[in-house]
Amino acid sequence: MRCCRPFLLYNTSMTHSRASLALLPAGLKPGFLSLEDSSLASWLEQGQESPYRTRQIAAWILEKRALSFEQMTDLPARLRDSLVQSFNLFSSRIDCHKVSLDDTNKLLLQLEDGNRVECVLMKEETRRTVCVSTQVGCAMGCVFCASGIDGVVRNLRPHEILEQMIHARNLLPKEERLTHVVVMGMGEPLTNLEALLEALALACSPKGLGLGARNVTISTVGLPVQIRKLADLKKQFHLAVSLHAPNQDLRSRIVPVNARVGIEEVLAAADYFFDTTGRQVTFEYILLGGVNDHAEHARELLQLLQGRKAHVNLIPFNRVVGLPYQRPTPEATREFARILKQAGQSVTIRKRKGADIDAACGQLRRNQEQAQSG
Ligand code: SAH
Repeated sequence: MRCCRPFLLYNTSMTHSRASLALLPAGLKPGFLSLEDSSLASWLEQGQESPYRTRQIAAWILEKRALSFEQMTDLPARLRDSLVQSFNLFSSRIDCHKVSLDDTNKLLLQLEDGNRVECVLMKEETRRTVCVSTQVGCAMGCVFCASGIDGVVRNLRPHEILEQMIHARNLLPKEERLTHVVVMGMGEPLTNLEALLEALALACSPKGLGLGARNVTISTVGLPVQIRKLADLKKQFHLAVSLHAPNQDLRSRIVPVNARVGIEEVLAAADYFFDTTGRQVTFEYILLGGVNDHAEHARELLQLLQGRKAHVNLIPFNRVVGLPYQRPTPEATREFARILKQAGQSVTIRKRKGADIDAACGQLRRNQEQAQSG
């Protein structure tokens, strides 16, 4: 039988979002990871190459960190030449790379169609975490977030999500590997779930990036139907829900989509996720100075989460140019955390990473685009 295993373990039922060679505009070389297994198989067959070359090339990209086809020295020179002529190794390229004082790396990647997305590599002790985007822009319109200011442009395709992880991983020294993925970059992951799952399947495969599913965190604005769908898949992913307020009214002001879905529904879906997967949920709570950071908000949050086995991650707001919100004072942040902790609630305060390089969600892209248009 001819090799027609889905290229790189892609699930064939989800192949609609990947490139078919025939559909690409003349002159544009597709990225290798965007190829459908059938396109690749017929390309290899036309060149009278063995189907197992697919795996070999994939291993060079995923495991051996190749940056060009020329580096793939165990391929015949003839095949390397054809690959160079027909494909790009990646469909995205690094448009801007910033390194912060705390060694956080932020990449702005340019996609084939000229759109740009961000990903961030963070280092902490033995952890090497990449934060990835799932959409160009975001439709959720959370009032404090830079990603959604101009709305959503489009969903990312599986290989565009995976390539963010690979570009970030390739910044690490050879002896280090990625240990964690947080899906907390631009976009709402649960509105692009199929593509995200395909990318994560590869990231978590031993023949891919070898990550553990338990070390993947998917952060959502809180879409109840999609949270339940994710739970039913019974993956080991960690779920983080951007709660941000302790009651319906305040949450609807900060997270507009809440007016439609309702805070109780979000919590019920989070409970379902915990019951179904056995994995404790994290509630993210951005602290906006003077808006949701008072002691009474902390007490109300305690009441809301009462009886739930969940973790709270407090996120002091990172300033976004053009938005009217302030960072909470260190005292307000400490007091908020103290109230939660004293009542036995598991709580952490998120450390600020890459503050000097616009590392908050969507900021680098926005600042670069404003600089270019101004
Ligand atoms: N749409 C998803 C994932 C993207 S946002 C979600 O809503 O969770 C990922 C996290 O970054 C969210 O918890 C969000 O609250 C936080 N975030 C966005 N902008 C921020 C800012 N300016 N300062 C601090 N945290 C921010």
